[in-house]
Amino acid sequence: MRRTEKLHVMRILKTAGSLLVLLVIALVLAAHSQTPQSAIPGLRLYVLDGGTIITNHPEGFGLTREQVKNSNFSCAVYLILHPRGTLLFDTGLGDRYFGRAFNESPLGDRPDPPSTAGFVLVTKTLKSQLEQIGYPPSKINYLAFSHPHDDHIGNANDFAGATFLVHQGDYDMMFGPNVQVNPAYAALKNSKTKMIEGDYDVFGDGTVVLLFTPGHTPGHQSLYVKLPKTGPVVLSGDLYHYPEDLKLDSMPDREKAPGITEASRKKLQAFLAKTGAQLWIGHDINFFSRQKHTPQYYD
Ligand SMILES: [Zn+2]
Repeated sequence: MRRTEKLHVMRILKTAGSLLVLLVIALVLAAHSQTPQSAIPGLRLYVLDGGTIITNHPEGFGLTREQVKNSNFSCAVYLILHPRGTLLFDTGLGDRYFGRAFNESPLGDRPDPPSTAGFVLVTKTLKSQLEQIGYPPSKINYLAFSHPHDDHIGNANDFAGATFLVHQGDYDMMFGPNVQVNPAYAALKNSKTKMIEGDYDVFGDGTVVLLFTPGHTPGHQSLYVKLPKTGPVVLSGDLYHYPEDLKLDSMPDREKAPGITEASRKKLQAFLAKTGAQLWIGHDINFFSRQKHTPQYYD
């Protein structure tokens, strides 16, 4: 081997050595900055009362009256406290219904409601519940809906100062061309908005993740929260309406043929099996009545 060749080989070895050192450093750094797998302290989940829908029309969800134990819907709202910020998931039926008789308040304020209509009962405002625990709307950093139907967006305008996390499909439902914008969320048009794709890790450490579960709406999402003591939970929005849906695989007629809800349910069930998370169905009124509500919380 000539001297120049020797030098060349030595240079290659030196470069390889430096690369190896860099690789080791990168691996060490990656291990340190990696998503912590253990739940973090300080993470809290509050369950708030967003009102009740009085209804007896389970046929609209692919079930008979005999199959459903309680056809009324709770409308759960969830506040998540994380060391890096706060997230409100859904906003209930709307404080404007507070104090009104339920039979004067058909959902969506339809005049002359059909017998299959749902009626709205709000016995405490969302604002008062948030204020009670020291988190008025000004302290909410992120807002997300499972989907923008009337029973989930009722108080949306109060949170226009938060960053709105939404999928394009649902955003188009709300503000797309030719859409008559619902006044209950109109203020969000000017909110700081983050368009998300697929699942979205809200605080970047894997403990609070929006799971993309389309079908009920094009951008429907569920929320995974990895609580330190309670363990992991999934808030499933309207992927399921009644607990009976779990056994009977029932769903609204319009969701059957496209198969998107079915695919999202499969995805979620696989996720639950993998993580061991509990499934919380927000409209399950019997379950809701057994839960801890503000000022109590899950941690
Ligand atoms: Zn709903």
